[in-house]
Amino acid sequence: MYFRDKPSEKKAYFLYIMDLIRIKDKIEHFKSENKKLFLTSSFQGYSIVLIHIISSIDKNIPIYFINTGYHFVETLTYRDNIAKLLSLNIKNVSSQIPKIQQIDSNSHLLYVSDPDYCCFINKVQPMDKLFFEYDVWINGIRKEQNEHRKTLEEIENAPNNTVRYHPLINWTKEECEDYIKTHKLPKHPLSSQGYKSIGCEPCTIKNNHTEDERGGRWNGLKKNECGLHTELIIKK
Ligand code: SF4
Repeated sequence: MYFRDKPSEKKAYFLYIMDLIRIKDKIEHFKSENKKLFLTSSFQGYSIVLIHIISSIDKNIPIYFINTGYHFVETLTYRDNIAKLLSLNIKNVSSQIPKIQQIDSNSHLLYVSDPDYCCFINKVQPMDKLFFEYDVWINGIRKEQNEHRKTLEEIENAPNNTVRYHPLINWTKEECEDYIKTHKLPKHPLSSQGYKSIGCEPCTIKNNHTEDERGGRWNGLKKNECGLHTELIIKK
């Protein structure tokens, strides 16, 4: 981490190092149980942090990008640049339903008339097959991102007797920023242009007017999750 002077910052630095060791131990523990692991990434603002941590531990853990077909071209370029930089083998998963069929009875695209269903067929459903192939789904959600994520723990149940592992669940955005700076990692090109959270292009706007980290997603709607972190969690 960047040099820190104050005792409280030194303590934060110590906890951060302990956290990285803990993540490595957890991954090794899963592997010792012969669990098959995979990571998903949306290649947005702070995604690079978890990608870098996990690929530093084990480059053989596959990284999946859920390609909705609606991403910013900058996100696709960023994904490809990171793959090259870190020598990653990134796999894409996407909906089997052609875009021409992703319309409602009035010929409106679903992201306009029914964004929940659009997210379901483009983000949630494509994950189905992965839950039959793997045991542990690693993803980078953090509690501070929104009220729903605050309720989630480091380990949660997922479909088909798999588990979700959230290594960064207690990380703050400042810690993510520090990690990126310390490791001199590239940031998403739109992060410096006022985009706080970067999802699909039709459902993302710049947002300089709120501290809400996911502000700017599904603007004007009472929606702040795509379903990956709601529908695909199975509570006991
Ligand atoms: S974020 Fe928007 S475009 Fe992307 S899958 Fe959801 S509704 Fe569709």
